[in-house]
Amino acid sequence: MQINEQVIRDVVAQVLAEVGSAPAVSQSSYTGRHGVFTCPDEAVAAARSAFEQLSERPRADRERIIGHIRRISIEHCVELGTMEMEETQIGRLDHKIEKLKTLGEKTPGVEFMRSEAFSGDHGLAVIEHAPFGVIGAITPVTHSLPTITGNAVSMIASGNSVVVNPHPSGKRVAAEGVRRFNQAIYQDLGIDNLICVIAEPTLESANTIFSHRNVALICVTGGPAVGRAALNSGKRAIVAGPGNPPVVVDETADLDNAARCIIQGASYDNNLLCIGEKEVFVVDSVFDALLDAMERAGAARLNNREIDELTRNAITQVGEGDHQHDAPAKDFLGKDASVLARGAGKSVAGDVPLLFGATDDSNPFVPVEQMMPFVPFVRCQNVDEAIDKAQYFEHGFRHTAIIHSNNVRNMTRMGKILDTTLYVKNGPCMSALGLGGEGYLSFSIAGPTGEGVTTPLTFTRERRCSMIENLCVLGKPAN
Ligand code: NAD
Repeated sequence: MQINEQVIRDVVAQVLAEVGSAPAVSQSSYTGRHGVFTCPDEAVAAARSAFEQLSERPRADRERIIGHIRRISIEHCVELGTMEMEETQIGRLDHKIEKLKTLGEKTPGVEFMRSEAFSGDHGLAVIEHAPFGVIGAITPVTHSLPTITGNAVSMIASGNSVVVNPHPSGKRVAAEGVRRFNQAIYQDLGIDNLICVIAEPTLESANTIFSHRNVALICVTGGPAVGRAALNSGKRAIVAGPGNPPVVVDETADLDNAARCIIQGASYDNNLLCIGEKEVFVVDSVFDALLDAMERAGAARLNNREIDELTRNAITQVGEGDHQHDAPAKDFLGKDASVLARGAGKSVAGDVPLLFGATDDSNPFVPVEQMMPFVPFVRCQNVDEAIDKAQYFEHGFRHTAIIHSNNVRNMTRMGKILDTTLYVKNGPCMSALGLGGEGYLSFSIAGPTGEGVTTPLTFTRERRCSMIENLCVLGKPAN
């Protein structure tokens, strides 16, 4: 009788889990660490061992592994979302919770894997998508565990393992989430450390990961500095970089819908989303009507004096010499609209989602990726001026742009000029990620390096397998 090795492993794992001890199927000396490491070299070694074990397993096991990550993300979203909120102190609790649930439910998994075939007179060529091995990932403070969750699902779906250097201000929730994921995977399948995290992340630990000979690919999600560092690493890098998404509203737009969408997108997690609406350029003829619509839809308007005061308090200067520039002040980044209102010398109710006001484009809230629930509205003579300003203040990141319009020419022109990875017409920013629009979700949107909204296939190497003369079975044999 032929006995399937995997069946034996499964039965042993199940029996041992039932009697409360860990299964003895993993060979790694790092087994039991559940992915949490202080030494990056050890993390890479553990992830490499996990990758090798995963490579011996059928694809169905990847689905089971991902199933655990999804389940924990969904079932523990309140606890882990609260932990993330308490640690980072930015954003909104309800959205921290929702992000984990949404990533657990919707991140592209094994179903996104595919192969291509070319068949013809000379035989058959099959193109398959293979894993890289160990991926080094850097994650932002704005979505610490959510980014790890999304990366882990997509990277493991294509057969990789991952070592994460999280943002230091989101390291505890990163380690706790990773520990839970690995523990569940280990108990079910006997592989530990598929997702490793550096518990005390530093620039040095990031550099060790970047230059490690056993790290085959890098994926960074963050601002300009980490993107530059990844591209200078000498390795293939997938860079999900910064944005400053502009919105254009023309005279044909449905203004009430535009106002609702701007509030929904820009207030989400207090405007921490890289795709979130950051500044609005409105044609003169509907400018006042749009501001009225914003108030009707629940946002609170600041007057000029209040905007000046908020700008003085919430925008600060960082860097030295030629590198000095405006940046969001820590006390206001990702805080509630009511906190920003206090900084503007105004009082608003705690449930007001967003502040807004009329500014000109010299106000720093326009060029700075401010990540705060205050959105500046700039009056423009016509739609061409609005589109030109949108292009200028998007800074060439080519990340995300949004238009509210019913004029196809304007939509087309803006799409061509802005040339962004995501371009939304008549919806909130998140509809570009399949949340209220078509498509699929990822929290690593690779603009600078061109991969777009990342999926499992993003983290693969193409391999071609060629059969010469045979296996194209079409037509009659020659003899
Ligand atoms: P950040 O750039 O300050 O940090 C991001 C990560 O990079 C952190 O882990 C940080 O420790 C690390 N880092 C920074 N400089 C580094 C260097 N020189 N070498 C190695 N690692 C380095 O960004 P943040 O405040 O954590 O997150 C917000 C930024 O991330 C925004 O600019 C936002 O647009 C961007 N973001 C982009 C996406 C996307 O999909 N494109 C998604 C989320 C966030």
